[in-house]
Amino acid sequence: MLLKDKIIIVTGSTKGIGKGVALKIAEEGGIPVISGRAKEQLANELPKEFESQGYKDLLYIPCDVSQEEDVQNLFQTVYEKYGRIDGLCANAGITDMCNFDEMTPERFDKMISINLRGVYLADWYAVKYFKKQGYGKIVNIGSDCSLEGWEFLSSYSAAKFGVRGLTQSLAKELGKYHINVNCVCPGIIDTDIWVTTDRLLGELNNKAIGESWNEKVEAIPLRRGGKPEDIGNGVVMLLSKYADYITGASLPVGGGSAVN
Ligand code: NDP
Repeated sequence: MLLKDKIIIVTGSTKGIGKGVALKIAEEGGIPVISGRAKEQLANELPKEFESQGYKDLLYIPCDVSQEEDVQNLFQTVYEKYGRIDGLCANAGITDMCNFDEMTPERFDKMISINLRGVYLADWYAVKYFKKQGYGKIVNIGSDCSLEGWEFLSSYSAAKFGVRGLTQSLAKELGKYHINVNCVCPGIIDTDIWVTTDRLLGELNNKAIGESWNEKVEAIPLRRGGKPEDIGNGVVMLLSKYADYITGASLPVGGGSAVN
């Protein structure tokens, strides 16, 4: 068990990669804190799902990462219940795909407020507690787009490069407090974001539903699309003792779709 009794907050864990990460943390003996905006799922479906797999008494906390008071409440609630916070996976994110001339300032700001400022806010509150404790591990979720910009993803690529830059800066600044900060960069992962991406890429490039996904997957060296649990494996490793001497890294987890 790589994460026995470790308290780990996962932002955006109501579905997709975040949920996959939370389940892996639980599988490795850790205590994930599930969060996101979907209040109904947090109150009903998710506790049922985790409990049916034997993971009881977890916290399910509504949190929109673009709202500072939500993020503050998330960390405060967890600290009040457990008296410590061992790790954070800053995962919450959205996509937005269009021609650059349609990327209005409002759309750009929305992307930055969730995919970059949301990661900054979660890291910021985590660091407050981690400095007090004298340790802590942060794993930010970047993307292939943290390593190379994609067409039609100007705001997303800008935000995800930002996540990587933030990770590197914090790693250098916070190492002396025994705080590790790393970034996992997922490739082409089978979640709702990719359902949207496939549809929008299809509209932009005049392709049928499923075609863009198939093309991208065929180009992956390991010859398959990723699953949330693939990302969970990378995140768990970086939250575990096996990453005690790793900080500032951006780990591509995409079957080789992007290399670093
Ligand atoms: P999903 O759309 O399946 O899940 C996104 C999660 O983020 C949901 O739990 C959603 O929960 C949450 N979320 C969205 N906006 C907010 C917000 N403002 N505050 C809090 N939570 C929010 O997407 P993925 O699982 O694919 O994406 C997860 C992360 O992985 C993102 O950062 C994404 O950029 C990244 N990624 C994904 C890739 C892929 O191929 N799928 C590739 C590279 C990176 P709720 O609706 O409850 O708020």
